[in-house]
Parts: sequence; structure tokens; C-alpha cells
Amino acid sequence: MDQNETTLLHLFRNKNKGIEYPVKLISACLLGIKCAWDGKDIYQSEKAIELLNSEVLIPVCPEQLGGLKTPRAPQEIQGGTGEDVLDKKCKVLNSSGEDVTQEFITGAEEALKIAKLFHIKEFIGKSKSPSCGCGRIYDGTFSQKLIAGDGVTTALLKRNSIRAITEKDL
Ligand code: SF4
Repeated sequence: MDQNETTLLHLFRNKNKGIEYPVKLISACLLGIKCAWDGKDIYQSEKAIELLNSEVLIPVCPEQLGGLKTPRAPQEIQGGTGEDVLDKKCKVLNSSGEDVTQEFITGAEEALKIAKLFHIKEFIGKSKSPSCGCGRIYDGTFSQKLIAGDGVTTALLKRNSIRAITEKDL
């Protein structure tokens, strides 16, 4: 595979129509998949769904990919960010106090694997999530307070040169 082919693979080519569509990774819950902690489609984004008219969006739920069940207790990063979790400086706990750090890391690694399979360069993540959030995430107190930082999956994708935005940026 030559360099041109590699760089073009993040576009899906519809040869019959001569159209190229960008291929991006997206938090599955934004497309209305019922993978959120409460098992409902509370995070569905109409703007994300509209984007399907012009882009190919590959849905991933890192928390499910990491082996967590749905529905599940809410989870938050404790005393740090997704970067800190990847560096083993802090943990992710659910609201019952159970440690779900390894599931979050496994889910991030699996999401990265999917991104690499499709040569994806951009991720649209669910804002504020401890997995998929970008720029601001919950602070670990389960009280809706926010801190600066990325979720675990977003941090790992960024480390691998994948740009991240949230549904608020659409
Ligand atoms: Fe799954 Fe990410 Fe949505 Fe959470 S924010 S439900 S991990 S896709």
C-alpha cells in the first residue's frame, strides 16, 4: 500500500457516485444506541444523526467494549483525568465504590484498535463522559461538577494522533 492510499483510507469512496465521505469514530450513545449507564438513549444527538448524511460514523461504546454491563452504575474518574488513568496515577470508580479502572483502559484500547482498522483521524465523543469526554469531565464526586480534562478513551485516542471533539462542537 503506497502513502497516498494510506492517507486516503480515512475517506469512504462510493465509486459509483464518485463521492468521498469522511470516516470518523463516534460515541455510540450519540447515535441513539442504548449503551449509556442507565440503558436508555438519553444522549442521542440529532446533530450527530444528521451527520450520517455526509459522513461515515463508526459507533463505539468503550465502556461496553471494556466488559461493563448495561445498565450499570454511573462511574467517574477519581482525582484526575483520563491521562492520569492511563498513567496509573488514579482510578475510575462507580457510584458504589467498585473499581472499574481496568475495564475503562481495556475499552479505550479496543476503541483505538477499531480506529486503527479504519485509519480514522477524528473522534466525536460524548461530552463530560469519563470515557468519551473531551476538554471537560466530571470531577469524581458524582455531583455534576466538572474539571478540565479528557475521558480515558479520548486521552488514548489523542495520544495516537486522533483529533477529538464532542457533540457540542457539531
Ligand atoms: Fe459508551 Fe462513551 Fe456513550 Fe459512555 S459516553 S455510553 S462509554 S459511548
